[in-house]
Formats: sequence, structure tokens, C-alpha cells
Amino acid sequence: GFELTSKDYVEYLKKAYVKIHESGDYITELDAATGDGDHWANINSGFGKLNELADSLETMNLFELFKQIGKTMMSVIGGSSGVLYGSAYLAAAKTLKDKETIDNEGLCGVLAAMLDAIMSRGNAQPGWKTMIDSLHPAVECYKACIADGVSEAETVEKVKQAAIDGAESTKAMEAVRGRATYQTDKGVGHLDPGAVTMSYQIETLMDCVKE
Ligand code: ADP
Ligand code: MG
Ligand code: MG
Repeated sequence: GFELTSKDYVEYLKKAYVKIHESGDYITELDAATGDGDHWANINSGFGKLNELADSLETMNLFELFKQIGKTMMSVIGGSSGVLYGSAYLAAAKTLKDKETIDNEGLCGVLAAMLDAIMSRGNAQPGWKTMIDSLHPAVECYKACIADGVSEAETVEKVKQAAIDGAESTKAMEAVRGRATYQTDKGVGHLDPGAVTMSYQIETLMDCVKE
């Protein structure tokens, strides 16, 4: 089975930055359609800062690394998503105390802790047209794969697809949280930008696990 170290996770942060960085026009358009158009700039600056810090992040243990990612995201991303990602990483850090690597069950635990933190900080549920609608199906899928003894290789593919399908499912949803709630149509017919960038992160992470 896989065992992600701090160094591996920092490699993931670098790849996620590339993926996010190159999707600027698309994500900006999505947030312009139902929100205030800054989501890409927010998340891109957060991942950009983490990339600048990469050399020092690599030397930290997983607990310190995740705490530092959370603090950085909270202070650099701004907007609703900064607070939510900050809380997510701080909650995930707590699951990594004394751990030197993240294995299959550990990664499921990390994503589950992130989901719980985002739902509680954002006071939001699945189906409300937010980033939760990519992360929640991914976590449900991950838990089911572990319970059913699905191979790690297959699990990674299934979790990735669940995140992507989840982001796609926000198109039909009426927003109950976030700026799309201010639209008369509650954003129906538009993808939620936060769900799409969440799916990019999960997709990239699962690809890193495969390698
Ligand atoms: P802002 O809306 O403050 O400009 P961003 O544009 O960076 O912040 O992020 C918007 C995204 O944050 C939305 O697309 C949605 O996915 C997510 N979001 C907003 N509010 C909530 C909430 N209460 N719970 C979960 N996610 C939320
Ligand atoms: Mg915005
Ligand atoms: Mg904003």
C-alpha cells in the first residue's frame, strides 16, 4: 500500500498549484456567473504561497505541515473559501499527530476530517451547491471502498471520479450557501466554482497517490 510522507504531500501541493494556475479563466468565469469573480484569484494565491514555502514545508512532520497549510490558506486565500480550507487543514492535522506517513485509511481519515470541518464551519450540508458537493461524495466513496475491501488502485480511481461527478452535480442545484444564493435562480444551470476547484485538488491528490 501507499505511504505518503510530508515530501510527497508537498509534491502534491506543487501539482495542485499547476492545475489551479492553468484554469484561471475558466474558474474566474464560473465565480463571475454566480458570485463575485474572485474564487480563482483567492485559491491561486493560496497555492502560490504554499509553493513559495515548499522547501520549508518539506522539512516539517505531517502534523506541523497540515497546521502550516491551514494557517497559510486562512491568511492568504481570503473570502469564504480561505476560512473553510483553513479549518479543513487544521482539523486534518489533528488526525496526523505522531504519524510519519499517510496510508490508505489515513488519507480517508484526512478527507473525512476536512469534510466535517467544512460542514461545521460553513454551517452547510451536501446538496447546497458548495465545495462540499465534491468532497462529500468523495469521502462517502472512500469509506465504502475501505469497508468493501476494494484495492487501493481501484479506490483511488473511484474517489477521483466521485469528486468530479460531485462537482458536475452542482450545476442542477439551488444554492443554499454562498453568493449564488443572491441570484434569483439560485445559480441553477451553473457549476459552483468552489466545488470545481475542490474536485481539481482531489483529482490531483489521487493521481499523486497512484505514482
Ligand atoms: P467568496 O464567496 O467570499 O468570494 P470564494 O469566491 O473564494 O469566496 O469562494 C466561493 C466558494 O466557497 C463557493 O463556490 C462555495 O463552494 C464555497 N462556499 C461558500 N460559502 C460556503 C459555506 N457556507 N459552506 C461551504 N462552502 C461554501
Ligand atoms: Mg468569490
Ligand atoms: Mg469574494
